[in-house]
Amino acid sequence: MTVPFLDVKAVHAELGPLIEQAMCRVARSGWYLLGPELAEFESEFAAYCETSHCVGVGSGADALELTLRALDVGRGDEVIVPSHTFIATWLAVSAVGATPVPVEPDERWSTMDPDRVSAAVTSRTRVIMPVHLYGHPADLEPIERVAERHGLAVVDDAAQAHGARYHGQRVGSRATATAFSFYPGKNLGALGDGGAVVTSDAALADRVRMLRNYGSRQKYRHEVRATNSRLDEVQAAALRVKLGHLDSWNARRRSVATRYRAELAGIEGITLPSVASWANPVWHLFVIRCGARDRLRELLSARGIDTLVHYPVPNHLAQAYADHGWTRGSFPRAESLAREVLSLPMGPHMPEHDVTSVVEAVRVAAGELPRPLEQAA
Ligand SMILES: *Cc1c(COP(=O)(O)O)cnc(C)c1O
Repeated sequence: MTVPFLDVKAVHAELGPLIEQAMCRVARSGWYLLGPELAEFESEFAAYCETSHCVGVGSGADALELTLRALDVGRGDEVIVPSHTFIATWLAVSAVGATPVPVEPDERWSTMDPDRVSAAVTSRTRVIMPVHLYGHPADLEPIERVAERHGLAVVDDAAQAHGARYHGQRVGSRATATAFSFYPGKNLGALGDGGAVVTSDAALADRVRMLRNYGSRQKYRHEVRATNSRLDEVQAAALRVKLGHLDSWNARRRSVATRYRAELAGIEGITLPSVASWANPVWHLFVIRCGARDRLRELLSARGIDTLVHYPVPNHLAQAYADHGWTRGSFPRAESLAREVLSLPMGPHMPEHDVTSVVEAVRVAAGELPRPLEQAA
């Protein structure tokens, strides 16, 4: 490929010696879990998110699951989730024995449509779980109003939105609790798995902290049956180095997105992502829509442009949820997104000439797509 989808190694070319120093510092210290690097990272990341507490855990999936467990969500409970999201959001709900109740997205920015949330609330609903998908914040305010009216918690999935702002406030500073992932390809990525829960609720943070460590606050005193899910010292040390660069990396993503949106505007058959007036997104992904998505993807690939689809199978049609009785047509917006979305190359180290190559290739490829009328014929 002449233009890769994302060059994760580029971070190391930029910061290699600093990251390696940090990792070696841990190796020499002999303290590998629940030590000083994690404590420092937790306070630095809480501050970055403009909130008071952060608990490092083993992954983004665990951050979601442990938050639900800390809120005592379980069997018989319902959690409102977006119909269109990475399946991990749903799986966290299922993991605690609760039922995901999908709500369709707003067509403009593909996050949970707040106008449809109320209708999904039942007497069993405990939590609303919006996802800041592709790095664009979900419209939290109207969702919070529904939550307040029904006495529900809001747990947002910010696995794709480190640093994004909603009405000027950082994602992570508003909800009951917010889950982050440090999967290597995320805007803030570790050199392996990692995740965190941030919250302004000290008691909730304390409960997640207990749950991540065998249900124990004090050695050999186990209050609940829990597992272990910890962000290790090596990852915490590497993340501390990277956190200092996150804002400038997000700025670079914004400038790539600005070029794409200007230079790909007005191409027939291609819909560009919209940005809400209240949103400052961090462009984890730059996702266009195209009725002839698979053909466009082939044409781009033939021109050396690597693209991905986030995500090709709607969660309600995944084999994992086959027993729920959802069928094709249950969530039409999620289904049409699954058919039409295409993620263009995007990253904090993407060179300008690669952006130019993508723009040129999309323009040429779009011209070769079958027109909608010909498709129908
Ligand atoms: C990546 C991701 C997760 C899961 O994070 P992991 O660290 O891979 O467990 C959850 N939700 C969304 C929206 C994600 O993109």
